[in-house]
Amino acid sequence: MTTPLQQLKSTSTAPIVRQLLDDPELSPVRCLYIHIPFCFHKCHYCDFYSLVDTRDRQQPFTDRLGQELAALAPLTQNQPLRTIFIGGGTPTLLQPALWTQLLRTLDDHFNLAAIHANDAEFSVECNPETASPELFDILRAGGVNRLSMGAQSFNPRHLKTLERWHDPKSVPRAVALAKTAGIERTSVDLIFAIPGQTLPEWDADLATALTLGTTHLSCYALTYEPNTAMTARLKRGDFTPTDDDLEADMYEHTVKRCADAGLDRYEVSNFAAPGHECAHNLAYWSQSSWLAAGPSASSHLLDPQGGGWRWKNQPRLDDYLHQNDNGHPRAIDLEPPDPSRLLSEQLMTAVRLREGIDLDQLLENTNEPTANAVRRVAADQLARGCLQESDSRLRPTDSGFLVADGLAREFLSVL
Ligand code: SF4
Repeated sequence: MTTPLQQLKSTSTAPIVRQLLDDPELSPVRCLYIHIPFCFHKCHYCDFYSLVDTRDRQQPFTDRLGQELAALAPLTQNQPLRTIFIGGGTPTLLQPALWTQLLRTLDDHFNLAAIHANDAEFSVECNPETASPELFDILRAGGVNRLSMGAQSFNPRHLKTLERWHDPKSVPRAVALAKTAGIERTSVDLIFAIPGQTLPEWDADLATALTLGTTHLSCYALTYEPNTAMTARLKRGDFTPTDDDLEADMYEHTVKRCADAGLDRYEVSNFAAPGHECAHNLAYWSQSSWLAAGPSASSHLLDPQGGGWRWKNQPRLDDYLHQNDNGHPRAIDLEPPDPSRLLSEQLMTAVRLREGIDLDQLLENTNEPTANAVRRVAADQLARGCLQESDSRLRPTDSGFLVADGLAREFLSVL
């Protein structure tokens, strides 16, 4: 239910989009995220906006999404999209006929020339249980060229701990179906540091994922987000969380295992064969502009002069379906760019990325006391061996990756 405070703060994005369309400095937006909010059931660790699907709202949702996409499309100025990412939720829960409708909407309103030529990335998150030849043929025909498979673990006991309901055998089946449909690029998502998980068990999960021939792995340590069932169980003392040393060992083992298989760490939790990095996530991490549609989706538009807007659509399906201002939903957290927030985000992501950051370029427009303070932290972390410098970029070292969150906190403490 929307609280009175949220109602007060929510606003239509229609005037903002009109203002952006009048901004001569705004470059065409080339990245698009779409949030499909339906799931089979709620996994215990999850804090994404999703609701249990009863199929009755899939059609109205897809119709409403089409209106929002049509309203956002002018911001691309008909330039070819470089990335589309459809996440959720469980996008592959949408019925095949609705996928056909959504993909047609995209073709009608956006320039998908690069995607259809396979020169741009079109990713969809997939629950392996939902994989079918019919669905994958529809996705491939619509330009989808990358599937991100939510495996999390291949061990039924650990899937049970996460309250994740799928048969681990469905993952290899889904990867094989993707290949048959002509979707060559697949990524597998895994979670480690699950309570009760041992290092050999984690190694077995990694080994199984790597034998699937995937060229991209996302490996996240389990986190206990506020207001999730997992965190409530932790507080009740239902299980003991993985201790920090074991979690660090699991992470170091992941890096080595992936490197041996030819998957390089390009972000602290993401590993890819050369050229198979997720272009859409790299666009997020480099603070590019992107459009986002669907309840809870966040758009981020910046122009080179520091103008632009960012906002998050109301995270409530009923509001999304019924609040409609010329196609635009209501949004919360609507903000113009804040140079200090942008600098924090750039530093936070830089310490997680193999490419690191060009510090001189980053600090070009920063006031002198702040720039000096940031440089002092950088010098300190270089001396400690957490950062290294090459080609005028600062990059995390192996030990820097291990403490990336702490490294980010050091930078943020001086802003
Ligand atoms: S399938 Fe994904 S989005 Fe849905 S509840 Fe589970 S973790 Fe969350």
